[in-house]
Amino acid sequence: MAPTVSDMTVHFRHDRSVTQMMLENTANVDPNKVISEDILTGKTITYETLRGEAFKAAWAFRHRLGLKVGDTVTIIGRSCVDYIIATHAIWAAGGVVSTINHSSSAKEIAHAVKVIKPHFFIVDGIYQRKLREALTLAQHSEVTISTMVSRLDGHLLFPNDFLTWESKRVEPEAYVLDGQDARTRCAALVLSSGTTGLPKAVMLSHYNLTGICEALRGHNPDNWRESMREVFFPPLSHIYGLYVCALMGPWLGYYVCMVPQFELDTYCRLMHEKHATLARLVPPVAVMLAENPIVDNYQYPNLEYFSCSAAPLKPAVASKLRNRFPLVSLCQTYGCTELSSCIAQSGVRDKDAPLVAAGTLLANVKIQFLDEQGKEVPAGQPGEIVVSTPTIMLGYKDNDEGTRESMHGPEWYKTGDLGYLDDKGYLIIVDRLKDVIKYKGFQISPTELEEIIGRHPMVKDSGVTSIWDDAEGTEIPLAFVVPQESTSSIDRERMAMEVQNLVAGEVAGYKKLRGGVWFIDQLPRNPTGKMLRRELRKKAASKAQL
Ligand code: AMP
Repeated sequence: MAPTVSDMTVHFRHDRSVTQMMLENTANVDPNKVISEDILTGKTITYETLRGEAFKAAWAFRHRLGLKVGDTVTIIGRSCVDYIIATHAIWAAGGVVSTINHSSSAKEIAHAVKVIKPHFFIVDGIYQRKLREALTLAQHSEVTISTMVSRLDGHLLFPNDFLTWESKRVEPEAYVLDGQDARTRCAALVLSSGTTGLPKAVMLSHYNLTGICEALRGHNPDNWRESMREVFFPPLSHIYGLYVCALMGPWLGYYVCMVPQFELDTYCRLMHEKHATLARLVPPVAVMLAENPIVDNYQYPNLEYFSCSAAPLKPAVASKLRNRFPLVSLCQTYGCTELSSCIAQSGVRDKDAPLVAAGTLLANVKIQFLDEQGKEVPAGQPGEIVVSTPTIMLGYKDNDEGTRESMHGPEWYKTGDLGYLDDKGYLIIVDRLKDVIKYKGFQISPTELEEIIGRHPMVKDSGVTSIWDDAEGTEIPLAFVVPQESTSSIDRERMAMEVQNLVAGEVAGYKKLRGGVWFIDQLPRNPTGKMLRRELRKKAASKAQL
């Protein structure tokens, strides 16, 4: 059976960088319209001020700090306008934008630093100490650090290094490819565990990033209009935040209000005050909007559609949301970091979409569904989703083996998700085959937590998996632990607590073992010792029902 091919093609250009795409301003953005605002600093930017500030900072990067084309600049910060300016400054200077979630612990940042190998950092002032600790742990000293943000702690973007530049002399020096191919030039490094193992740095090219913008706009022009207004809470460190706030928003000139962290009442109030026309959700927020009485304290007369992504949306939640907001369309998006964000999306006017369909295929996407032996399953049957598209990553940085393992031949990326296309061409996601756990849309690598748990002296073996929490609308991680033979039942109680604390002390808050620690005599492993993770997940599901 031949792979299914999207019925739309869009021309992706390999002769321009992200900065060039922004400058072409094909969407005719009004230069003086406010396109981004944040509630952290209260700062706003227009298309014109974004350009101006980004070019000043780009100049300073090149001429004051010595950034060379291809150098990596890592940003660690809460979502704010300066973050967006920083990304465009790095692109305009010819650098590679890399991001690390600001809630990461020093140890997690140290791992990320080893993988990314940054030349520069832009860091939110309040995370400076954590970053310095991480750099010591990673033994990575050859970097320059600039402080970003905020009016809250008295800093301005790039205060020390950059305020001395002579404004009159600065000309836009958009990063042009000078005849080089955008398909081979890395523009961003975003962390992802892929299907297995510790976080890796996904290399996305200028071609990938400009291509995904063209594909999204071409696929559903009604979802991507200049008149859109939204309040956005996912972090900019995730590919979701990067493409919505730094790429699509400024490119099309729609308005985004960024909130640094989610809090329901603030979110609803801002949706009301800012006249939001859409709400981009992750499933746990969909649960709150569907059920929580706080939502009724405000009105949303401009709201046209919800767009849910990053994790599975349960049908019960989707239908409650529809009932509560009968005039608001419910769209979904499906994809992953390795595919430059998404490969399927449903449209705001698409009334035929099944309740939990993840949309139809974006332009230029080819898809097939494979069984465990790598053979195509019959049409309409669930199989592993394997995708060929021009937005496939360049690969994992300095990790050829990881890149090879993630591919099915040279052109097809194995998503590690199970799904099928229905007879109308809607993508239905059935399950996840890969190891990674998703808590509220954030990735958690079981291997990373197992490594920490294994350091407890009373642990003989451990396996981390997840169960579904209906109330929160998300998976939550838990650990199965095989204790040393000498461990008594009293010791076990103490040990469970110690293991939870051990993990909580080393990782970002979202990775805590919220599902607890469960004791077991033996973990399901195959004869070569490989953990049978689906077995483990089944065990967890059946134990949770007891
Ligand atoms: P990330 O790279 O962090 O965006 O994670 C990508 C993974 O999130 C996918 O491989 C899926 O497992 C999951 N995911 C993303 N979107 C959806 C969706 N609409 N429905 C179900 N799972 C999703």
